[in-house]
Amino acid sequence: MAKKDYYEILGVGRDASEDEIKKVYRKLAMKYHPDRNPNDKSAEEKFKDVKEAYEVLTDTNKRAAYDQFGHAGVDPNNMGGFGGAAGAGGFGNFSDAFGDIFGEIFGQGRGSRANAVYRGADLRYNLELSLEDAARGTELKIRVPTQETCETCHGTGAKPGTEPQTCPTCHGQGEVRISQGFFSVQQTCPQCHGRGKIITTPCGTCHGSGRVKKSKTLSVKIPAGVDQDDRIRLTGEGEAGINGGPPGDLYVVVYLKPHSLFKRDGADLHCEMPISFGVAALGGELEIPTLDGHAKIKIPAGTQTGQLFRLKEKGIKPVRGTRTGDLYCHVVVETPQKLTSRQKELLKEFDEISYHDPARHSPQSKSWKEKVKTFFQ
Ligand SMILES: [Zn+2]
Ligand SMILES: [Zn+2]
Repeated sequence: MAKKDYYEILGVGRDASEDEIKKVYRKLAMKYHPDRNPNDKSAEEKFKDVKEAYEVLTDTNKRAAYDQFGHAGVDPNNMGGFGGAAGAGGFGNFSDAFGDIFGEIFGQGRGSRANAVYRGADLRYNLELSLEDAARGTELKIRVPTQETCETCHGTGAKPGTEPQTCPTCHGQGEVRISQGFFSVQQTCPQCHGRGKIITTPCGTCHGSGRVKKSKTLSVKIPAGVDQDDRIRLTGEGEAGINGGPPGDLYVVVYLKPHSLFKRDGADLHCEMPISFGVAALGGELEIPTLDGHAKIKIPAGTQTGQLFRLKEKGIKPVRGTRTGDLYCHVVVETPQKLTSRQKELLKEFDEISYHDPARHSPQSKSWKEKVKTFFQ
């Protein structure tokens, strides 16, 4: 049975944040927890699935590998992904599932949100590559926009010489309790939006956000053999974290530019090879361009349109896997055009001679004509 999609298991979108995933996970883990569903096999299965999905999707490396390669990317038996993204550690077991759910839900709690440390956002950079560069690998520089900690205020958002003030509404907690009948509900503080501090005199450089937009030049090594939608992770090159949190990662996503001669299909290349009517009939030799030079193909006499010639290992050596692809040349026999009277004369004569033995010279046309005949009978 095919493995279910991790995002589907948790019922979240592919762009779900880590916080969102954690929230959903807690809910589902509580629902399907074996303690609450004794002797319920399907709940136990679901609990395992949810846990597995959670562990992959909250691990940046594993999630990236999963997004790119699906289950194969995080299967410990399968080497996949760049930068050692494949997890080899397995998915833990039941006993540590108890620890982390109940620790977080019933334990000491998450504390005040005021000084919560957040990891910076991951960034995506779409990189257009020629087929040749993708096949051979290259190193290039890219300029990426990024948000960095403001140097003027060192990320506090307050004008130098002033201090962010403790929020009077939540007294620095970042959360407020609101009583509704019997219930008391904890909410993010509306005044400071959970920061616990408010800025009375904002920093002139970042206008109080503590971060500034900048751009930086990065050098990216493109491994030979990358394909459309492959991602190269530059660890720590994403946006700056909040409250001293670690920065996010930058993902360089490969887009292949269309090539004038070759179409790529994984490791294989395909090209069309127009040959003249004469060469198709008489046979001959043809020089074919390949990614690393030229190759010769022997065209046997009587070659037809659609016939395929394979040049072994003239395709691409993919990043993963060891097999170098092949180059497939698809024959297109070109019907001659704009004939001179001499050419016409010769062809007419040729046709007249051929007419006497169609089974020998044009077996396809002959059998087709016979099929048409029986069809109309
Ligand atoms: Zn600032
Ligand atoms: Zn507040």
